[in-house]
Amino acid sequence: MPGVAIAVERPSKTANVAAAEELLVWAARTYAPRVLFTTAFGAAGCALVALIADLRLPIDIATLDTGLLFPETYALWRRLEARYGVTIRSITPEESVTEQAATHGPRLWERAPDLCCELRKVRPLAKELARFDAWITSIRGDETRDRGAAAPVEKDARFGVVKINPLLTWTAEDVWRYVREHGVPTSPLHARGFPSIGCVPCTTPVAQGEDPRAGRWRGVAKTECGLHRRPALAATNA
Ligand code: SF4
Repeated sequence: MPGVAIAVERPSKTANVAAAEELLVWAARTYAPRVLFTTAFGAAGCALVALIADLRLPIDIATLDTGLLFPETYALWRRLEARYGVTIRSITPEESVTEQAATHGPRLWERAPDLCCELRKVRPLAKELARFDAWITSIRGDETRDRGAAAPVEKDARFGVVKINPLLTWTAEDVWRYVREHGVPTSPLHARGFPSIGCVPCTTPVAQGEDPRAGRWRGVAKTECGLHRRPALAATNA
């Protein structure tokens, strides 16, 4: 009818997306420019890159480039930068993979994965976070015991920053719904049986019905690289 405005009903934003956005906006207002988001390019991390970029928030974005990532991960990194017009910086270890082999022996991840993660992930991140006040992560509470014990905003005593976890209450289905609805690029490895993706030597596909993180450090009593390990649980989770 001419002259009559017709209200088009749009699907309302889900509560978990609104809550994540609110927390990101608060983090940027409170801590920018000393706030860093690190991603390993899992689906949740890709969703957060999209949220931060779409909201145009002044949040620094970086990844821990261990030098051992899948070629698909490096390709996704460039794809996200191009799609969202953001720079995702590289945080690198002191030693290259070759140098580490000379210092500690070859394939350290097979003999001492905790030390390998410490050298290639934990120490580089600790050095980087020394320049920041707040650290945003894409952990979800249902992933591991350590992550289930986290809070949306908490003090990370080990890295000396405020740790902010906007997706803590999201489920895997929440993440996949978001990336589907918003066309967020994700790793092609997910469709090949890799729900959780890390370094090539420590990531295997997961069979139907297995824990989604069962492919990480398969055969080793290790569920975390150490970045999100909580001191009180470390003794049983190391
Ligand atoms: S995930 Fe594996 S290869 Fe990567 S840093 Fe940890 S132990 Fe080393």
